[in-house]
Amino acid sequence: MTLPMFPVTMVGSWPRPQKLLAAQKSKYRGSLSDADFNRAADEAVLEALRFQVEAGLDVVTDGEQRRDNFFAFVAEKLAGVKLMKLSEMLDIVEDRAGFERILQTLDVPAYSITNATCVGRVERVKPLAADDLRFLKRHTGKPVKITLPGPYLLTRAMYVPSASAATYPTKEDLGVDVVRVLRAELEELVREGADFIQFDEPVLTELVFTQGQTRTFMCASLAARKDPREELEFAVSLFNQVVGGIHGVRIGLHICRGNWSTNESTLLRGSYHPLAAYLDRMKVDQLVLEYATERAGDVIPIAGKELGLGAANPRTETIESVQEVRQSLQRALQVFPAEKLWLNPDCGFATFSNRPVNSAQISFQKLKVLVAAAQTLRG
Ligand SMILES: [Zn+2]
Repeated sequence: MTLPMFPVTMVGSWPRPQKLLAAQKSKYRGSLSDADFNRAADEAVLEALRFQVEAGLDVVTDGEQRRDNFFAFVAEKLAGVKLMKLSEMLDIVEDRAGFERILQTLDVPAYSITNATCVGRVERVKPLAADDLRFLKRHTGKPVKITLPGPYLLTRAMYVPSASAATYPTKEDLGVDVVRVLRAELEELVREGADFIQFDEPVLTELVFTQGQTRTFMCASLAARKDPREELEFAVSLFNQVVGGIHGVRIGLHICRGNWSTNESTLLRGSYHPLAAYLDRMKVDQLVLEYATERAGDVIPIAGKELGLGAANPRTETIESVQEVRQSLQRALQVFPAEKLWLNPDCGFATFSNRPVNSAQISFQKLKVLVAAAQTLRG
């Protein structure tokens, strides 16, 4: 893959068109066949692709158009996993009042978000993303990035003791099968020619910023241990088991502080520093980190790895200026060598399908600014 200096890409998701959102609703109601849904999704993927190509991105994604959100979609692909609305989750979580409080504080509409819950032996009955990759590659010659939920996020989010413990006594037991599933997916994606595979692990920041005191709605059913070090060790171990020994593809790890609301005050705050020692040990080529938001603090040095520098806030209507992005890049250049730097927004533009954090038009303008800034600094 030949890339220019400061390659520009997306983190993953793109706002879905109304037609696709309607198709998604009908599919979940059972009034639309998979084939009909896929026709609507194909169209949306091609539209998301056109936006990225026109903006001048160097590496493209499918905008996660087929997914309900960045991790719950696995319920459709895996045996032993059931998609539960958060309203259903309320009936089975250990601490219902606490859970409801989290949803309110975090500004999460319970009716709009779903969780993939482990209810039996987890097995990969359909590819998680290999079909998406094949479709995308048929329609572009550009290098392609595929996003997948990370093994720690999947294990934590899917493990709901009252539903999962009959099959897996502990979340560590579930972790073994999550690793197996993701490893099989990774191998297929590499065989099919993916250029860049990014794992999303947004929960890692929650571990260090909240010390297990609060829980995000994504992992609301299962409290982290009070000592985040144990959880972080678990996350590193799962991750390295999934990617260890894989060659011929760029492996990325995306960590942010949540992207469910445009109300920044409900999102977590704190620097990546407490995670540095763990990130250092993760077998990853590129860390895709948010830095456009001031909540993320200074750029942390991680030797030997690339940085996908978040340089546009996906949640604001204001378009960053080329000058602002150049300044961010220059700040990162004090910590990372130029050949290790990529540019991207802080996170996806529509992590949750029915709660995009921006419109396609504004998202498109933001991507164009990233490309323009990279161009002015190339050569
Ligand atoms: Zn993110």
